[in-house]
This record gives sequence, C-alpha cells and structure tokens, in this order.
Amino acid sequence: MKYLSTRGHADRKRFCEILLEGLAPDGGLYLPEHYPQVDDATLTRWRSVYHEQGYAELAFEVLSLYIDDIPAADLKALCHKTYTAEVFGTGEIVPLRHLEDGLWLEALSNGPTLAFKDMAMQLLGNLFEYELARRGEELNILGATSGDTGSAAEYAMRGKQGVRVFMTSPHGRMSPFQQAQMFSLQDENIHNLAVEGVFDDCQDIVKAVSNDLEFKRKYKIGTVNSINWARLLAQVVYYFAGYIQATEQNAQKVSFTVPSGNFGNVCAGHVARMMGLPIERLVVATNENDVLDEFFRTGVYRVRGSADTHETSSPSMDISKASNFERFVFDLLGRDAARTKSLFGEQLSSQGRFDLSADPLFAQAASRYGFASGRSTHADRLATIRDNFTRHGVTIDTHTADGVKVALEQRGPAEVPMIVLETALPIKFAATIAEALGHEPERPARFEGIEALPKKVQVIPADVAVVKAYIEAHCP
Ligand SMILES: *Cc1c(COP(=O)(O)O)cnc(C)c1O
Repeated sequence: MKYLSTRGHADRKRFCEILLEGLAPDGGLYLPEHYPQVDDATLTRWRSVYHEQGYAELAFEVLSLYIDDIPAADLKALCHKTYTAEVFGTGEIVPLRHLEDGLWLEALSNGPTLAFKDMAMQLLGNLFEYELARRGEELNILGATSGDTGSAAEYAMRGKQGVRVFMTSPHGRMSPFQQAQMFSLQDENIHNLAVEGVFDDCQDIVKAVSNDLEFKRKYKIGTVNSINWARLLAQVVYYFAGYIQATEQNAQKVSFTVPSGNFGNVCAGHVARMMGLPIERLVVATNENDVLDEFFRTGVYRVRGSADTHETSSPSMDISKASNFERFVFDLLGRDAARTKSLFGEQLSSQGRFDLSADPLFAQAASRYGFASGRSTHADRLATIRDNFTRHGVTIDTHTADGVKVALEQRGPAEVPMIVLETALPIKFAATIAEALGHEPERPARFEGIEALPKKVQVIPADVAVVKAYIEAHCP
C-alpha cells in the first residue's frame, strides 16, 4: 500500500515513511491510494476473530491491509502489546452499552487518560518505539495541548526508548484533574512546559519552532497531532468492533454519531465505510463551535477567527477549523487534488471560506457518503446529562452528551442501531457534571487523590527562545 497527498505531491510513500512525518511536503494530508475492500466473507471472519481472539487480533487484521513495511509477526506483536485488558480496563477493549431502544454507547475511554485518544495514541507510542529502534534514530515530540491530546501523548510515550516529549500547555487553564494527570508523570523522557499565556500562544510557539528548519533537523523535532495517518488508521478498528457487537449478521446496517472537533474520529468512520462496512449514516455532532455542522447543512466551510471560537463545556471540541476535514473533501471531490489544493490552500488563506453549495457533488456528502450533522449547546449538554442519569442511570461526559443529543435528533428507523462514540469519561469534566447533576461523577480507583501527587512541570514565559533553550538543555 502506498500513500498520496490530498494536494497532489507526486511522491508515493509507504506507511513507515509517513509514520514519523506530519503534513506532506505540499501541505496536504496523506491518504492511501485506495481503500482496501472488505467483502462479506472477510467481515464474517472478522466477527469470529473479534469474539474468539479479541480486539488486538481484529486490529491486526485491519492494520495489515494498510501496512506492508512491517513484518506481519511484528505488527501482530505490536497490536497485542497495545490493546490489553490491563491498559484498557476490559477484555472487550471497546464494550457497547445499551442506552435505550436502538441506541448504544461504544466505550472508547477506559484507557490510561480516560479519553478516546488513548485508542490511537497507545498504538502510536509502540509504533514509534519500534520504527525508531529499527532506524537507530531518536525523536523529540513537541506539542501544544489544552488537555486531552497532551496527556494521551505523554501516557503513550512515557518510558519509550528513543522518544522525548516536550508538551506545552496554557498555565493554570486546564482542569485540576487534567493538570494532575499530566504533571504527576515523573518519567525522565516527559517534559511539561506550562506557558504563561493561552492555548494559541502554545500553538504559535510549536509552529515557530517547527518553522526553524535547522533547529527542527538538528533536534529531530516531530509531532503527534491528529493529522497523523497512523492515528486515524488505529481508529478505524473500533468502527468494525462496534458494528460487530451491535449486529448479528452482515446484512444489518448501523449508524454512528461522533462528537467532533478536528474531524479525526469521524474521518476514521468514513474510511471504515469506504472499506465496505455497512454504515448507514455518519452523524457529526459539534458543540457551539459548529464549523462542521454548518458545512454539512449548507455546503459552506467557514473557518472561525479566535474571537469567534467559543470556550465551551466540551472543550476538546473547541476548534476554529477542522484539521482532518481536507481528507473527506478530497474524496468528495472525486479525489481531485488540484481542486483540493485550491480550496484548502489559496481560497482558505485569502477568504477564510469556500462554498460548495452550488456544486452537485455537495449533495453526495449525504446521499453517497452518508453524512449528517447537528449541534449542541451548554444547556443541551446539561439536559442530556441529566436525562441519561435519570432515565438510564448512566453518567456521560460533556462531549459524549453532545453526541447523544444529536443522535436522538438524527436517529433513523429503529431497526438501524445508532451507536454513539463515548469520547471521554465524566470525571475529566467534573465541574460541568456537578452543575448538571448536583453531585460529582464517580472517580476510577486508580485516580484517587492524584491532585495531591508531586508535580513535574516548568512554568515558562510565552517565548520561543525559552522553549528552544529548554529543548537544547534536555537533549544529550
Ligand atoms: C479530541 C476529542 C474530541 C474530538 O475528536 P476529533 O477527532 O478532533 O474530531 C471529542 N471529544 C473528546 C473528549 C476529545 O478528546
């Protein structure tokens, strides 16, 4: 399998080449040259693989269709090392929970940091360690986080050979639980940098360091952001696992609702559907930051400015543009790389928007690719959390609540199960849960008292030179 860029760059690359890379050289995103097709017999076989041999083995089946430059035995071992009951809390890894007639929750948040990002990041950590050892190279991951991504990356990379993590976050702005999760890590290869500023300052610093090509090369700076194809690929697996659990035979269809920000999670659903998984609809749920809902309703994609980007109670979906969206638009446009390049390159930078409403292809987003969308607000979130607690005795997190709210509006006929992806556990966003329910959510035993643990964090000014000096001082 070879990979191409959504903007048409001529080189075709293999999986391990793009594993450690971010954007393609032309600024595009990597996608496979074609989507491998999963026929009825294979899907039937995968059913028994999942039920009898477990999630890790199913992951190997899916990944091996896309990765041909890691020997099969090694890839299988990496999957088994990653997806264990010990790390993910249950042997099913992603168990389905029944909410009500035709409505299910797929639990993706029982990994080390209690958010779905662990599903991909844990695999990425093992892939990085494997590939770096094979090349005899090292990598310094520089990132910016407002919460979930940073902690998922640190828990995935802690103690890994050949990898260091330098994670910037806005000083004092993450929830106490999120700060405790990250800053309590004492591993030598993990560095927390609390920047006196906001999240945008952190992102600007990361960009500035990455744009200094000489520094980047000398210190082997890399990233783990959500445009990484390996992360997306890891997420494809749980769409198959959700389908297998919700149905008894392949003739049945299901729909998924996905709480969305950067369009990584739901893009993995799109890939699963392109492979032939019988998905009826992929419902994109947004919060007040409704860039994506607006596109699927109107055909207009309008990037927001920072004044227009709201701070909400589902903060991991507070985005001004959706960094993986280009992948879907490339497919929607019949894989026209020149047109994708013009929309996401020139048009977005000059006008901040593009408009496909008059293009007949736009209608295919729904009719051919199955997409639908909806949005949710703080009041909806509180009401949905309350309603699920009183009617089902289930406490859901704020992002998952956005999903359930939209799923209930978009639910089709009862014979098509609707699966909502649970993207975090409620304890991560305890203040909003307490606002909705009048009490704090349950805390998994392993997180008792983490706020009191010693913290390893360096508070620094929002200054690129300071971050560079810190990296220099901590690389041998
Ligand atoms: C990252 C995240 C999302 C958004 O996922 P995307 O892949 O960016 O669309 C939703 N919910 C939670 C809890 C997250 O951490």
